[in-house]
Amino acid sequence: MTTALITHPDCLEHITPPGHPEQVARLEYVLNALEGFDLQREKAPLVADDDILRVHPVAHLNALRDAAPTTGLISLDADTHMSPGSLDAAFRAAGACVKAVDLVMGGQVANAFCAVRPPGHHAEKETPMGFCLLGSIAIAAKYALDHHGLSRVAIVDFDVHHGNGTQDLLEEDARVLFASTHQMPLYPGTGYPHETGAHDNVLNAALPDGAGSAAFRKVMQDQVLPAVDRFSPELLLISAGFDAHKADPLAGLTLVEDDFDWVTRQLCDLADKHCGGRVVSTLEGGYDLDALAASVAAHVQVLKERGA
Ligand SMILES: [Zn+2]
Repeated sequence: MTTALITHPDCLEHITPPGHPEQVARLEYVLNALEGFDLQREKAPLVADDDILRVHPVAHLNALRDAAPTTGLISLDADTHMSPGSLDAAFRAAGACVKAVDLVMGGQVANAFCAVRPPGHHAEKETPMGFCLLGSIAIAAKYALDHHGLSRVAIVDFDVHHGNGTQDLLEEDARVLFASTHQMPLYPGTGYPHETGAHDNVLNAALPDGAGSAAFRKVMQDQVLPAVDRFSPELLLISAGFDAHKADPLAGLTLVEDDFDWVTRQLCDLADKHCGGRVVSTLEGGYDLDALAASVAAHVQVLKERGA
């Protein structure tokens, strides 16, 4: 068994305005960092409309299609933009997550990493926001539940920002556990501990500005990992954002590569215990190019070791 790396050149065709942190170079750096890795390389398909519609209303899909420009750039909000290639990039990003679920559930690979952009965890039911158009990891979770007939899927989101979109799309589904660590206060302003979902199926662990390795590992060990353990998932999904790194320009946590190695090992241990090691991880944030590349390499190295 091995680890799948799922990506697509279309994800390099989502163009953002000059100086925007969610830039094409992010994915180029990530792919360069993984170039020497022995992985099963797969091209991401375009996600099917039916898979999107499990979490987003058709009005959202129609609005994105109507908004997509044929030339130039348009702005959906102050942070979120579309170029002519954005819609296909977002469809590939979600399609990668769905394909990763198929590969892992089908036993073709042990685990998978989706090297894609735009990210997805801020996109709410009818609101693209925070660089995100489609809730890729939520789409993958619902696909795993409905298409593969699973009963329990856990999502751990260690991006420095709260995964408000994933929470919005899934908090009413008792078959999903969504657990997020994030800096607070910080964009998008949600993710309070009292937000616990309709079925006590949401866990928000907030960290203060300046928190580092010890605080991050403590909330993981005290809150997130025990919650995943109790939930006993049949598949573990990861919203892998690397913007909690100390070098990241958008936030104030002070993690280092070794923290991403550590958390990946902890999550793989739980996946081994509960679901045959089945892990699907997708790229969310991470905006210092060198720190992003090194952090992704640390994360995927663990997936590869554990999937071997
Ligand atoms: Zn983020």
